[in-house]
Amino acid sequence: MQPSLNPALAQARFCPRCGRPAEVTFPRLLSCPDCGFREYYNPEPVAAVIPFDAHGRVILLRRGFEPSAGRWTFPGGFVDLGESVEDAARRETDEELAMAIELGALVGVYSRPDDRVVLIVYRALALGEPSTTPEAPEVRVFTPGEIPWQELAFWSTRRALRDALGR
Ligand SMILES: [Zn+2]
Repeated sequence: MQPSLNPALAQARFCPRCGRPAEVTFPRLLSCPDCGFREYYNPEPVAAVIPFDAHGRVILLRRGFEPSAGRWTFPGGFVDLGESVEDAARRETDEELAMAIELGALVGVYSRPDDRVVLIVYRALALGEPSTTPEAPEVRVFTPGEIPWQELAFWSTRRALRDALGR
């Protein structure tokens, strides 16, 4: 089954301010004819990092959870309110690989109309050794020639790695 473009709005029926029935324009708007409340929904930013070690190799992790559990990707996750995209990129790398990084240049921004996230990917230099975590049960270092292109987690994983490696 295709995941919902907006799970937060999929079951919504009532105005969160006054509690009366709301009008839902899926997937982007909930509005209330009684009190005038309007809430717009937008794609969610996800910050990610392609970490390189000192030898120019890429550190990838096998995803511990769905979606795409068991497939390879780089660390990343939703940007929380109250932090910048760069903060989120550092925090997610620390949570998934227990590793500090020096954030580098933007690799690219990846978005499609049928995807509810906007992926923002930076390159980074690893400042230590990565560890496995519940989110990343396997971690490996790949030379650019060893990237497991057929086992990557998402279309955007492939595109960003291609852009970062100039392929
Ligand atoms: Zn209302």
